[in-house]
Amino acid sequence: MNVPFLDLKAAYTELQTDIDTAVARVLASGYYIHGPEVEAFEVEFAKYCQADHCIGVANGLDALSLALRAMDVQPGDEVIVPSNTFIATWLAVSQCGAIPVPVEPHPATFNIDVSKIEAAITPRTKVIIPVHLYGQPADMDGVLTIAKKYGLRVLEDAAQAHGASYKGRRIGSHGDAVTWSFYPGKNLGAIGDGGAVTTNDSMLAERIQVLRNYGSKQKYVNEVKGVNSRLDPLQAAILRAKLPHLDEWNNRRREIAKRYQHELAGLGFILPTVPEGTEPVWHLYVICSDDRDGLQARLNAVGITTLIHYPIPPHLQQAYADMGMKVGDYPIAEKMAREVLSIPIGPQMNNAQIEAVIANIRQ
Ligand SMILES: *Cc1c(COP(=O)(O)O)cnc(C)c1O
Repeated sequence: MNVPFLDLKAAYTELQTDIDTAVARVLASGYYIHGPEVEAFEVEFAKYCQADHCIGVANGLDALSLALRAMDVQPGDEVIVPSNTFIATWLAVSQCGAIPVPVEPHPATFNIDVSKIEAAITPRTKVIIPVHLYGQPADMDGVLTIAKKYGLRVLEDAAQAHGASYKGRRIGSHGDAVTWSFYPGKNLGAIGDGGAVTTNDSMLAERIQVLRNYGSKQKYVNEVKGVNSRLDPLQAAILRAKLPHLDEWNNRRREIAKRYQHELAGLGFILPTVPEGTEPVWHLYVICSDDRDGLQARLNAVGITTLIHYPIPPHLQQAYADMGMKVGDYPIAEKMAREVLSIPIGPQMNNAQIEAVIANIRQ
């Protein structure tokens, strides 16, 4: 049996009529940049995330870098980031000329270890970026308490956490701003690139709106050196068709995760831990094994595709060689890079596929 890691086409097939209708509506509308579809998606997604504002942008990386610019992050400033995130979190900081300062994750949750943040704060620190990695909310109370004590901003990277909740409230406005990616493989994915920022801070919302559109509120009047980073109306219309299904899709992921939690327990793998007060959305289901590569090869041989998120931590990437970080500097992130394995999970997985994954791992 073939078990793909994630069947992107299956999500389209499930909603084909709605998505085709949405695309046709944009084609017939004559609005091909900004316009009513983008505005309607912004309103609907803000409401879904329990946030006051949503600003659509071109992708998740731009969402991060524009939010940092809106927070006035300048060259030489420091921004605290997890040592074990997708490199986009770091790159956004670098794009502002600022310095990413890594903090190790808690080994049980894979999210930023709040007890290690204070040691990384200096007079140049401006922002903390917790990442809700794998769809699991980070310890926001812990992060917000430290941010308040030191007068820092909090920017949440929620690219993997559409629909997750923390202490009974959706991810979307716990920190000063929250960034989203609608890359096709995310829990809410477009059919191409897309991104957004949500916030309750109207000043930040306005700045991001201006920055994403050439630094301009009024055509040909440019207040700041902005960029061109717009959410495509076609993608906005497709996202509007998908958004009403997100909760159901996340629930299907939760059911699969529940089965994995039960049926893969006691085999010597480290399985995900869900801290109290968090409702993850299982963007990825990640197990740890000291024979990760062997397990991956055995699953691959029977047609089960797994992936590694992520095989090289940012501090050991050549892209960051200029910072002079070396093996051993962030041992928890490095251990994760050696041991993590993401096994198939997705709303369109069928029972036979779920059972094949479980049976083959148990072997
Ligand atoms: C996907 C992702 C991003 C970047 O999103 P793009 O839309 O690909 O630019 C940023 N951070 C995290 C944690 C991600 O998973």
